Amino acid sequence: MTTQPGIYEVPEPVAVATDYPTLAMHIDGRWTDGSGDRREAVINPATGTPLGSVPLAEKADLDAALAAAARGYRIWRDTPVERRSRILRRAADLLRERAPQIGRVMTLEQGKALSEAVGEVQRVATLLDWDCEEGRRAYGRIIPTGPGETLTVRREPIGPVAAFTPWNFPAGSPMRKIAAALSAGCSIVIKASEEVPATACALVRCFEEAGVPAGVLNLVFGVPAEVSEHLVASPTIRFVAFTGSVPVGKKLAGLAAAVMKPTIMELGGHAPVIICDDVDPAAAAAACARGKYTNAGQVCTSPSRFFVHDSIHDEFVDAFVKASEAVVVGDGLAPGVQMGPLANERRRAAVRRLVDDARDRGAAVLTGGEDLPGPGFFYRPTVLADVPADAEILRDEPFGPVAPVIRFRALDDAIAQANALPYGLAAYGFTHRADTVARLTDAFEAGILSINHVGGSVPQAPSGGFKESGHGREGGSEGLDGYLVTKRVSHRLA
Ligand code: NAD
Repeated sequence: MTTQPGIYEVPEPVAVATDYPTLAMHIDGRWTDGSGDRREAVINPATGTPLGSVPLAEKADLDAALAAAARGYRIWRDTPVERRSRILRRAADLLRERAPQIGRVMTLEQGKALSEAVGEVQRVATLLDWDCEEGRRAYGRIIPTGPGETLTVRREPIGPVAAFTPWNFPAGSPMRKIAAALSAGCSIVIKASEEVPATACALVRCFEEAGVPAGVLNLVFGVPAEVSEHLVASPTIRFVAFTGSVPVGKKLAGLAAAVMKPTIMELGGHAPVIICDDVDPAAAAAACARGKYTNAGQVCTSPSRFFVHDSIHDEFVDAFVKASEAVVVGDGLAPGVQMGPLANERRRAAVRRLVDDARDRGAAVLTGGEDLPGPGFFYRPTVLADVPADAEILRDEPFGPVAPVIRFRALDDAIAQANALPYGLAAYGFTHRADTVARLTDAFEAGILSINHVGGSVPQAPSGGFKESGHGREGGSEGLDGYLVTKRVSHRLA
């Protein structure tokens, strides 16, 4: 173990590239490199070195996946729901069994600490359990009418789904789409991230071995814009699901609107945290730091603007700095590491730019504010104070290990600033006063609100955004809504 001057203990990187699997697409029940010869390198963000390469789909491969999804849909839709549910539960069991191995692969390609990666795989198994049970409860209803007539409302699978997922939750994001689609009786063509493809391949293998028929679950990789333009426009596709940035979400929602297809959009946020004067500043800072540095801050719900009451501001900031400096940063596979690198150099450059802009405009960099020396895309946990209102980091989601702190005196001012951005995904409040909890609960324009902790997503409750953070919900009893279509049937008996 080496020690970075004064601040972090950085475990030695681990030599691992040899246990990275071979990558392929999964089309119509077969693993394939596709019909072309284009490939993209996959980089270990902890070392900056290549792990392998992923094949990129040509149009012919996408057409094969679409034809397979059309066939797979008819088979899966007509499979009794009990049988579908049994197969999906078997896939969830395989995921749980394989969580240590899949987690390791995820850390290699994405960088997050191994404990987080293994936990993510275990959580997706639970999510799959939940969604497939919801599939068994996709009830319709009977509406009272006169004698001789029945009026019913049925919910049917909408049809083949096209889904696109990013690199920050290599298991969590794809599983939210796959679990909902398959539980509703849909087939799916999913383009998972080319930057973290092995985790997606490992998930698909569990479904395949559990007995999901060929064509139901198709996995492709490719040039993102090429793939989405082709899939979204195809008449085979009936629903479009995306997780990622707001600009790309708008683009895909536009493509879908042009052909009148419904979408679910899980987009970025810039989550405000309001810390009131009645809480213990050290305890609040410890909770905020734990939430902030999860997945190196690359979480769409990551707390990212900290509004702290003036009377406890200095104590909060001191405790946040101490907690930030105690985070063990390093290769996610090394024992004891709590925070890995940024997932790619593109992300580190964006974080660096936002911190430098804040510093240039007069913010105080209390800790961090720079890369870690050596290989890999590491950036130090960073706390910024006295951040001026015109700093870009107060408008652009940092999506990295950076905590900008802003002082407030009146709660109304903090709420106004919290709601001032066009985003509304997550929000956090710290207070023990019942009237302030009620005020924050009413006022926050966000789809996910946590009070006195930085909560993560759970399968039994819905996640999704207000405003430009997107629409539709994943998880909870709402999670299958987009993947089902409603049919009204009136039946006269004579
Ligand atoms: P990006 O906007 O280029 O890409 C985001 C994701 O969308 C990537 O996985 C990419 O492969 C995919 N994508 C891009 N163009 C696409 C297209 N035309 N069709 C289909 N998929 C497409 O940015 P990035 O550098 O990967 O990430 C930067 C920003 O994205 C972050 O700052 C964050 O705001 C946002 N992001 C959000 C989430 C989330 O969970 N909501 C996840 C990852 C990234």
